[in-house]
Amino acid sequence: MSRPLTATIDLAALRHNYLLAKRVHGGRAIAAVKANAYGHGAVQCATALADIADGFGVAAIEEAIELRDAGIKNPILLLEGWFEAGELALIQQYDFWTSLHSVEQIAEIERAAITKPLTVWMKIDSGMHRLGVQPEDFRAAYERLLTTGKVAKVVVMTHFARADELGCDATAKQVARFRAAIEGLDVETSMSNSGGVLGWPEGRGDWARPGIMLYGGVCADGDLPETPKPVMHLDSAVIAVRDLPAGEPIGYGARFVTETPTRMGVVACGYADGYPRIVPTGTPVLVNGQTSRILGRVSMDMLVVDLTGIAGADIGAKVRLWGEGLPANKIAQAAGTIDYEIFCNVKRAHFVYAK
Ligand SMILES: *Cc1c(COP(=O)(O)O)cnc(C)c1O
Repeated sequence: MSRPLTATIDLAALRHNYLLAKRVHGGRAIAAVKANAYGHGAVQCATALADIADGFGVAAIEEAIELRDAGIKNPILLLEGWFEAGELALIQQYDFWTSLHSVEQIAEIERAAITKPLTVWMKIDSGMHRLGVQPEDFRAAYERLLTTGKVAKVVVMTHFARADELGCDATAKQVARFRAAIEGLDVETSMSNSGGVLGWPEGRGDWARPGIMLYGGVCADGDLPETPKPVMHLDSAVIAVRDLPAGEPIGYGARFVTETPTRMGVVACGYADGYPRIVPTGTPVLVNGQTSRILGRVSMDMLVVDLTGIAGADIGAKVRLWGEGLPANKIAQAAGTIDYEIFCNVKRAHFVYAK
């Protein structure tokens, strides 16, 4: 018997969520499958979306080549652009689209041998202050880029810093700065990540760039009109059971001591699988579909759950770490992080792809 930890990836839910992004935003959508599709498996997710996706977004050329080599023919956008000018040759060879985020990179295009004109997504820094050309420099930079004669098409893009905060005016301000920078230009635009798609109608353009919503993650700090479906279900099983009296410690560091007679179960899942070690006692978990809690410290390969009062909870009981019925963001909150990071960290589990 193999270790029972399984990440089941619901590809029908993934497709549903992509179509939801397109329907809400309108226009076309780049599905962000960077970082191994947020831990879900980039090749499998891109393959499952290939017949409906307008394009895929990745962080680096290695991720893009992996998709091309797996037979993905859709446009692939390098969301972070290139890191050294030498990559421009590969970008042409593989027919990738690339972001461009600085004036220095225009100079690199000027110097590069380009035989096949590039599709460039030119990024404007509308207020996040991470990547992008400053709004006041944009016009001159855009003209200079066109003058190279090495560009077939330009899409102008920006990225929101606070689209997940529904009560905050930062996104509307970014939209206004972006629109002012491109006013009067006849170019395609792209602004919204998942939070923008679902929360900010004013952030719509020709292209959306949904990521976390494709995987059913949390896109905002409040209620949204549409809810994506969970895609990853991380499940394991109870591999050992103990009945302890009150006053007994559990696990490394004796971080939890039973207060009453307690039935506890050891589960095959630990921080080496991506379950966050930092979560406290009380973090939710489902045992045979019933809500329970983590007890004591998470160890490398195992964690302990409370089976007291859970019907039928014996060796072999089903344990859901997150998925349908228990959003990954609950575990993320207990760990002081976001579900994006929780998903990206999953490893060593068996991955099962369900159509
Ligand atoms: C990752 C990424 C996205 C997707 O963001 P989500 O918040 O996951 O929807 C969109 N645009 C860019 C430039 C990105 O790097």
